[in-house]
Amino acid sequence: MKLEEQLVAKLGKPVASASDEELYHALVDTVKEQIRAREMTSGNKKLYYISAEFLTGRQLGRNLVNLRLYKEALELLKANGKDLREIEELEPEPSLGNGGLGRLAACFLDSIASLNLNGDGVGLRYHFGLFKQEFRNHCQYEVPDRWITEDGFVTKTDVSFPIRFGDRIVYSRMYDLDVIGFEKGHTKLHLFDLDTVDESIVGEGISFDKKSIDKNLTLFLYPDDSDKDGQLLRIYQQYFMVSNAAQLIIKEQKDLGHDLHRLADHIAIQINDTHPSLVIPELIRILVHEGMSFREAAGIVTGVCGYTNHTILAEALEKWPMSYLNEVVPHLMPIIGGLDFAAVCAYNDNKNLNIIDDEGKVHMARMDMHYSHSVNGVAALHTKILKHQELRPFFETYPEKFNNKTNGITFRRWIMHCNPELTDYINEMIGKDWLSNPTELERVMYFHNDENTLKNIAEIKHLKKVQAAKYLKEKEGIEVDPDSIFSVQVKRMHEYKRQQMNALYIIYEYLKIKSGIYPAAPVTVFFGGKAAPAYTMAKNIIHLILCLQELVNNDPVVSKYLRVVMLQNYNIAKAEVIIPAADISEQISLASKEASGTGNMKFMLNGAVTIGTNDGANVEIRDLVRAENIYTFGRSSDDVIHLYNTNGYHAIDYYNRDEHIRRCVDFITSPELLKIGNEEMLRSLQDNLKNKDWFMTLLDLGDYCNTKETALYDYLNRPKWTRMMLVNIARSGFFSSDRTIKEYNDEIWHL
Ligand SMILES: *Cc1c(COP(=O)(O)O)cnc(C)c1O
Repeated sequence: MKLEEQLVAKLGKPVASASDEELYHALVDTVKEQIRAREMTSGNKKLYYISAEFLTGRQLGRNLVNLRLYKEALELLKANGKDLREIEELEPEPSLGNGGLGRLAACFLDSIASLNLNGDGVGLRYHFGLFKQEFRNHCQYEVPDRWITEDGFVTKTDVSFPIRFGDRIVYSRMYDLDVIGFEKGHTKLHLFDLDTVDESIVGEGISFDKKSIDKNLTLFLYPDDSDKDGQLLRIYQQYFMVSNAAQLIIKEQKDLGHDLHRLADHIAIQINDTHPSLVIPELIRILVHEGMSFREAAGIVTGVCGYTNHTILAEALEKWPMSYLNEVVPHLMPIIGGLDFAAVCAYNDNKNLNIIDDEGKVHMARMDMHYSHSVNGVAALHTKILKHQELRPFFETYPEKFNNKTNGITFRRWIMHCNPELTDYINEMIGKDWLSNPTELERVMYFHNDENTLKNIAEIKHLKKVQAAKYLKEKEGIEVDPDSIFSVQVKRMHEYKRQQMNALYIIYEYLKIKSGIYPAAPVTVFFGGKAAPAYTMAKNIIHLILCLQELVNNDPVVSKYLRVVMLQNYNIAKAEVIIPAADISEQISLASKEASGTGNMKFMLNGAVTIGTNDGANVEIRDLVRAENIYTFGRSSDDVIHLYNTNGYHAIDYYNRDEHIRRCVDFITSPELLKIGNEEMLRSLQDNLKNKDWFMTLLDLGDYCNTKETALYDYLNRPKWTRMMLVNIARSGFFSSDRTIKEYNDEIWHL
């Protein structure tokens, strides 16, 4: 049946006379029926992708794309005076992730289903997600992000498992999100919850009583862990997630009649960062309970598990005090102790390999590396740094376990859904093969000297900028000029990503304009991103950006050339608006610190040109597009690592030596900014930059400002710039998550 007939049957009236709400519900119902009609993917071996985060984004649009109904829906609604985009806005976005790691997990599920691989996701159903970001008084405030609705895509099941916390047992509840692939494939994301969770215990902002686990267990992703109760709650969450996963696995294997001794033939587990690490002792515990020897169980689990490392930042490598684990999961401690003992016996000359250190802390990543058969980094440079720096003792012990899987993004969301105009145009140029075989995008290169093609690509970019400007005006009341250059830095707020360097660039440009030197073309600098609630410095950076936004945009002269926009509550929906509209992709992390980045890939696919350091996947982008189609700057990762190892970086020297740098840093506490902002916050940020600057902002600031100047100048050469856009689009096929998942499957999972 045609989509129109299905909708009319549901609505009981013509599409043209239905409201957006009515159409939304009719579309959701139609999509759900089609999902139910699609056969589940099956196979002899199954993957369980366990992750604390799945940043899935809204489901209506993605499902329409993957059912190949999106264009039909778009055109049908348009013909009836409706806008599908507006209707999609009615769906609350599942707030089940924080940033790149969670979005990667969502892209992976999409690719797993699309390749018709037998693999499910396992995670938690956080009622209020991370948090919703609001700006008041130029500061970030956190409020609960309530995304769950009665009629959403996540459905309640009858599946429940007993979960043991010491001498207490709680009963879980499984919820499912159907994951359908592009044209074929159907798997699930299992999200576990507790029926007793009580949303009403949340008080001011996102505060709540951390002690009552029955009521708070799945309220938030990454609840505040600045005190002991918060840390215990995180362990409760992690164990709850993995015990459910392990019990689900054993139940499914038994239902299939599989022999648990042959578990490694029938399942693979991917541990996404260290949050699911307790699945290792939990699965061993269950297998031993089923009658297996400890040795055999540990061997089987090692054969089953793969571990993905996402960061080299020390604070993100989790280690829990043994006493805390004893409080939450005492029944796992003998197993963790046994695993540590076995590892210590085998490698007793090297304390860096101990799971439990001399202070009695349990190192999750170390347990993962001993008891997984695969350890992977997420970009070529990152894996190299893991092998030779951060995880060197483990690489020397288990060289065969280490491998690289460069991240990817699903093209269904990151071009087909967010940029149907460019998708259609590429289809016109090279046909549709690239949609299921992304390396075919390379064929766009045939057109790199075709004037007409370049003109069309530039026109599509302009259209996306006009659409973004309209969205921002309607949704956030912000005016932007689509004829200005859009420079975009959207990602979690963190010192290593160096939003502060971009802010200092704004000051640099502001001061230049004030002194009468005007830039060649007007620029709008966009930011978006959340700061962790307890991360003071990241919040200070947001404060500076919001103060600059007020100062710059209200200056009658400066605002003609420069505008600053900080997007509130950056999420997938906003990413899908701003990324297709970007001219310049800001990827300016301190070299060696960004494991991969995936935002960089989304921008590239949508024809933005990168300005970035030689960090993470930027290195691979540069190899693909070649140096003349990307702007790289800054010190190399080798230099940076050397500076750390020798304590060789002193921010104050750069401040004293360079007059431009000094003026920019001083301006943070200028009368102009103090009139708008909070003196304590601005001063603390300034002091940090002068005296600490752990992520070496001032080291690269000069090079950054110069490189950016070059990029803005090149933008005015339209044929040159548009050709750079085309090359970036053409060479982005490598970054399809379909490629990444094929590699995981061929080399790790063997489904
Ligand atoms: C892709 C994405 C990220 C990751 O961006 P990076 O620049 O790689 O850090 C974070 N948040 C959202 C909403 C995203 O879509």
